[in-house]
Amino acid sequence: MAGMTCDICQGKVVASAKKENWFVCEYCGTEYPLEWMKAKFQKTQTVRLERIAQLKNQPLWLGGLEWCCLAVEADRALYITKNIVEERAYHKPFEYITWEDCTLRQYLNGEFLRRFSLQEQATIMATTLPNDNSTLYNQINGGNTTRDKIFLLSLAEARKYFSSNGDRVAKYKSNSSWWWLRSPGGRQVHAADVGTDGSVHDLGHTVIADDNGVRPALWLKLESVIAI
Ligand SMILES: [Zn+2]
Repeated sequence: MAGMTCDICQGKVVASAKKENWFVCEYCGTEYPLEWMKAKFQKTQTVRLERIAQLKNQPLWLGGLEWCCLAVEADRALYITKNIVEERAYHKPFEYITWEDCTLRQYLNGEFLRRFSLQEQATIMATTLPNDNSTLYNQINGGNTTRDKIFLLSLAEARKYFSSNGDRVAKYKSNSSWWWLRSPGGRQVHAADVGTDGSVHDLGHTVIADDNGVRPALWLKLESVIAI
């Protein structure tokens, strides 16, 4: 029953030490019966569920960027930037690579993450990410599972969280552009990506392509999103 506040002063209402089944405002001392508490709790729950239902249609601003909600789970919500935020290589130099060791992952969880205030950073959850082998050629290695605050979607996630190609189209500046996924492409020097028409490309592009777009994703603590 966290967050019950006094009708009069918005102070915190806690169980009364003196009267059984009564509650009292810590600040002004107003007493409330159990029925009041139950009704208040119901209302809070209703408001919370309404907020959650609205999240998927509501843009969110974080770190100076606009984010779209892709999924809501019990305690977290998945967001991706509305637009491609920049063009950058998946990895440099040209060599065999997986998401774990690529320079883009290092950048996103370092310099890029620091664009968020410390308060914003505290709402971003570190997430364990599977890194599956290539969908086309099993010998193309996806690498180890990673734990990241900021990441790129995988091929599976890009398919799962968008309902159509059109939904997946993203712009860099004002033009539709390619954007990287974290999954390996058709060779160990390629990473998968999404085309200008929003279609998913399992074969991908060479990791050193620095004109491919970056569309960061993150999981936010649901309670913090509801509070925004
Ligand atoms: Zn009060």
